[in-house]
Amino acid sequence: MNIIFATNNQNKVAEIRAAVPAIFNIIPLQEAGIDIDIPEPHPTLHENAREKAITIYNLTGTSCFSEDTGLEVTALNGEPGVKSARYAGEDRAFDKNIEKLLANLQGKEDRSAQFRTVICLVLQGTEHYFEGICKGTIIKEQKGSEGFGYDPVFVPEGAEATFAEMTLHQKNRYSHRRKAVDKLVAFLNGLPHNSLNKEY
Ligand code: IMP
Repeated sequence: MNIIFATNNQNKVAEIRAAVPAIFNIIPLQEAGIDIDIPEPHPTLHENAREKAITIYNLTGTSCFSEDTGLEVTALNGEPGVKSARYAGEDRAFDKNIEKLLANLQGKEDRSAQFRTVICLVLQGTEHYFEGICKGTIIKEQKGSEGFGYDPVFVPEGAEATFAEMTLHQKNRYSHRRKAVDKLVAFLNGLPHNSLNKEY
């Protein structure tokens, strides 16, 4: 099954490719020959995921999916949430975002947080949504150099290491994205045989 993944984030592509069975051929925008930076202007993950998937569906006429993810921190009333990428500014710099997060958490007892991923699949014009949540803790200093975004300060529940200290496969044992993708795969597996191949 060929399916376009409406993203330019190579980390997300690697994680999702490692999470899906080989029968699914995940095609990121670049490999589909689509050069576009899709805006994420909405106040919810749901709407942003929809925007990305619908934009690519309208452009290609081909079924595709996208995802939007946010880090929701309890003591910050769910922030940075949908603003995770641009928390410290429009340049979307991972280090500056982490610095701002750690500064805002200084002195707070409750360091619990969760990553939440929403996938929007547009299949033959109809939208389907899949959500994955990973609960964990924000530690006080960065640890590890793998992954991306807030990975160096996030320790998932049940683990002792940050996501940035894990291999891609270890991260996928816990991750929000993996949980959402598992639901997407279960849905796609239930479709009539080859219904995606016919389109792409
Ligand atoms: P978006 O889904 O590309 O809008 O992601 C928003 C931001 O959330 C990214 O720029 C990262 O900073 C952060 N993010 C998303 N997924 C992850 C993850 O799996 N680990 C760490 N940070 C993430």
